[in-house]
Amino acid sequence: HDVTPVSPDYVISDRFAGKTYIVTGSARGMGKVAADRLAREGANVVGVDWIADEGAAVIAAIKAAGGKAEFVPGDVSDTAVCDRMVEVAVSTFGGLDGAINNAGVMDAIPPSEPIDYDKQKDLAFNPVHLASDAYWDVVMRVNATGVFRCMRAQLRHMVEQGKGGSIVNVASVAGLRGFSSTPSYVASKHAVNGLTKNAAIDYAPYGIRINSVNMANTDTPMVQRAKQLVGARMKALGGVGMGTIKTRSLLQYADTNHRDATPEEQVAIMLFLLSDEASNITGANWATDGGFTTY
Ligand code: ADP
Repeated sequence: HDVTPVSPDYVISDRFAGKTYIVTGSARGMGKVAADRLAREGANVVGVDWIADEGAAVIAAIKAAGGKAEFVPGDVSDTAVCDRMVEVAVSTFGGLDGAINNAGVMDAIPPSEPIDYDKQKDLAFNPVHLASDAYWDVVMRVNATGVFRCMRAQLRHMVEQGKGGSIVNVASVAGLRGFSSTPSYVASKHAVNGLTKNAAIDYAPYGIRINSVNMANTDTPMVQRAKQLVGARMKALGGVGMGTIKTRSLLQYADTNHRDATPEEQVAIMLFLLSDEASNITGANWATDGGFTTY
């Protein structure tokens, strides 16, 4: 028996009225849903994405529906873009109450390129001995360095502002476990969880809570793309295992009874962590994975 996913027709509350949040990766997937739902629940939203046209369209749609939102195009691993997202929050909405640092990549293929595994395998999923510098560098830069630089800009302002707040970093079950052929993804998401725990300690005295969520497959464009790429990689490598360690693919649970989570289900958890109802939760690396990491 399947549990019914959260409806996209959200229950509307005003729990974030008057608050301002940054959402990175707001053009697609979970970030898009998070920006939309935060605005529906009264927040001022600053969306950030390096896909400028889709990102601007998402924010325009939120505004057309009566929400308060601004868009900052750019790469979250660029310090100038991180400073800009905070400046826009402060100059447009008068402050910053927190962020969902959600932008991330699983491969180093530019978002504008169509997927062609044979041509792009150096930029996609590989075990360490086959991994290129480009694959390692891009994924580490966006996922790990990007979260660090975004948090740094956000926290500089939030500390000075002195009103506390809440930050949610989006990691992955790959931040809690190892998976085959994804060395920089797994390393970068472990870094997100480590950064989250570290910052939670340093900013607790300022009343700023910092948590991460670790989802398994969620029905987003990134996971659809990964299914194509990992499928090709696993086929090329064959099932290599060592002793009792079976080759474990990030997508293996597609073969089990699990279903992909919906972006709405993940966003419901992120917004709970942002809200004051989560006032005693900080430094947590939550597994929001439908039970995936229980085995
Ligand atoms: P998911 O929702 O599963 O995390 P998606 O690919 O659907 O994955 O959404 C991730 C979003 O993050 C996309 O809109 C993507 O363009 C954005 N993104 C990824 N890397 C960056 C980056 N370096 N800078 C800004 N936005 C980024």
